[in-house]
Amino acid sequence: MKALSTFGKGKRLSGFNAVRVGARLLKHSAKYPLYRHTGIPKILPKYARISVTDMCDSRCNMCHIWTLHKTDTEATNKYPKHSDFVDTPKLRSEMTFEEFKQFVDNNPFLEDIMLTGGQTSLKKDIVKYWLYLDEKGYRTGGPTNTVDPENVIAVQGELLSKLSGKHTHSIAVSVDGLGDMHDKIRGVKGGFEGALKFLAWAREQQKKYPFFDVSISHNLTPENFRDFPKFVDYFVNLGYKPNQITFRPTQGLTRFALKTPTATQIISDKSDAMKQELLTMLDGMRAKYKEYDDYYVRGIREFYEHQRKHVIPCYAGYNTFFADAYWNVYPCAPEMNERFKIGNLRENGFVLKPLWESERIKKIQDDIKNEKCVNCWTRCHSAQSTMASPTRLLKVFKDNAWRVISKPDHI
Ligand code: SF4
Ligand code: SF4
Repeated sequence: MKALSTFGKGKRLSGFNAVRVGARLLKHSAKYPLYRHTGIPKILPKYARISVTDMCDSRCNMCHIWTLHKTDTEATNKYPKHSDFVDTPKLRSEMTFEEFKQFVDNNPFLEDIMLTGGQTSLKKDIVKYWLYLDEKGYRTGGPTNTVDPENVIAVQGELLSKLSGKHTHSIAVSVDGLGDMHDKIRGVKGGFEGALKFLAWAREQQKKYPFFDVSISHNLTPENFRDFPKFVDYFVNLGYKPNQITFRPTQGLTRFALKTPTATQIISDKSDAMKQELLTMLDGMRAKYKEYDDYYVRGIREFYEHQRKHVIPCYAGYNTFFADAYWNVYPCAPEMNERFKIGNLRENGFVLKPLWESERIKKIQDDIKNEKCVNCWTRCHSAQSTMASPTRLLKVFKDNAWRVISKPDHI
């Protein structure tokens, strides 16, 4: 289970390390329910997800990030390169490496700092960000599109040659369908070929860099969910393990006023037949691949079935948060909006503590506790919420008991 690898201080979870990490998680997990219900003990978040840039070269139909920065379309043939982004005050106000360093140094209690975007490889000095995390003992990596495989390969190649190798470097490649289906959802012709090119390159690198994990990350949309079994079979036939293919309900972002085809389209009352089809597909996948009969995929099923109810109590804003490229802090990516804005780290010397002591965070945490949010079920947020409950953790341990006797592997 990929999410668990976050908590091994960047080391692979197997054998004794799996037992050690499990025991540590269990110890931590008891504190969060108490904090959630009584406000005591006061706990700072442990998991950060940082969007380093809003620049993106993809044109995904389920996400509008790519509309946030202007590109010089005259100069753009297929997709924008870094030099095609117009130099605007907004682009110039994105986070800098110096700020990022301050953030890491000022909040040493953070256990995991995941970088995302936009497209991380468009951030000119992104290698420096990951190298700094590596130096400080964090695992590195994050999601990537492969619209421009040469650029991603250049960035990852440089990074791999400079990382210490002591911590896992995990890259999740977004692939939302086979061939034209991927290109249609991602809005760029040839995108699927780009993904295959990057994956083939990454596989070669794994022989040289055993700390390099690569997974395929798939969004289920109303357009593609029927093809998902074929999609998994295709990659399994290429030699990928099912647990290297992660998937989730597409989540609409309130930041873009939910203008996107989302999970809700599948599960609205009007499309009950579609919902049934989706649930049958999921049950088929769980029966076919034992790796998919775990707490997370069972959660996807529950999410589609009872969409307005949280699958499990959510701990976004308690043990985890999301910061955008301008250092605005929110509990999670789906709720990046004024109502859920916790504060801005530029105004606090990049120190989280004052934000977690404010009246504002209490109100936001109460709303989340009372399920007054858009609701979602993604692996990163569900993992952090699972880690905050001893009973749910024990269920996850049961699903992952095989790790104790397994050899380290790409997960
Ligand atoms: S989903 Fe990712 S790749 Fe697609 S537009 Fe949004 S940030 Fe870019
Ligand atoms: S369930 Fe709600 S608060 Fe929790 S991560 Fe999803 S949208 Fe955010």
